[in-house]
Amino acid sequence: MGNAIAEAWQGVRTMEGAGVRLKRVFGNYQAESMDPFLLLDNFGSDDPADYIAGFPWHPHRGIETVTYMLAGDVDHGDSLGNRGTIGAGDVQWMTAGSGIIHQEMPQPYEGAMRGFQLWVNLPAKDKMMDPRYRGILADEVPELEVEGAKIKVVAGEIAGTRGPVRDLVIDTAYFDVKVQPGARSEIPVDGTHTVFAYIFEGSVSFDEADRAVDAGTLALLEKGDSVNFAAVNAAARFLLVSGESLGEPIAWRGPIVMNTEKELDQAFREYRDGIFIKHGAV
Ligand code: MN
Repeated sequence: MGNAIAEAWQGVRTMEGAGVRLKRVFGNYQAESMDPFLLLDNFGSDDPADYIAGFPWHPHRGIETVTYMLAGDVDHGDSLGNRGTIGAGDVQWMTAGSGIIHQEMPQPYEGAMRGFQLWVNLPAKDKMMDPRYRGILADEVPELEVEGAKIKVVAGEIAGTRGPVRDLVIDTAYFDVKVQPGARSEIPVDGTHTVFAYIFEGSVSFDEADRAVDAGTLALLEKGDSVNFAAVNAAARFLLVSGESLGEPIAWRGPIVMNTEKELDQAFREYRDGIFIKHGAV
């Protein structure tokens, strides 16, 4: 027996940044039930007009952002002085902490550009920590084979295989799971964590008694020690993410997430006055 689905829903099409069409899998409205996760965006288009405007220079404070690309390239730069390109299979884990200003610009690509960005909340005591940045290349992400499935371990650990993203503020696991049709497999998770799966290829059933859910569906799972899954009909692929809930008040305005309105006002005032960045040179 694995964790059954508690709630499932489809993402909504929206526009972000300077005009990027994407699917918002969850956001403000679900933030309480997804705690410590705030937002998941799914990019995917074979038309550069849908993404080329990108996300020009903008601030973040109080959160971590995790960008995971499946196909395509995103050029980035930030106020810590980092510059580079996130390519297929690469992961960028950025802790905004007290403040970072960055840009994320998808480059023209032959075929479908595909990827994800997840926002993870920071606990009140760490919201003003020093910002930091980790760029992980595709070949640094280990792939584990279990019966009927291949699992890329981005963060967290399965059977001794540990992901390259470590020293996270909140205890978090992030897996990219490819499932062959027929076999039923299982991944252990922390029974106290919030756990969700986002299916992006095929159809998956999580508990044998449950109906299968299709690509484009977010499944928030019941708490429990393992996630049991099978691909229905054809191969399937999903993100499996878990994290420790914070249970703290959320004050959220655009790219900044704090605990109180007063902290939000201060952040936007500092940004306007050019004193937002506490560390690094713009
Ligand atoms: Mn950003």
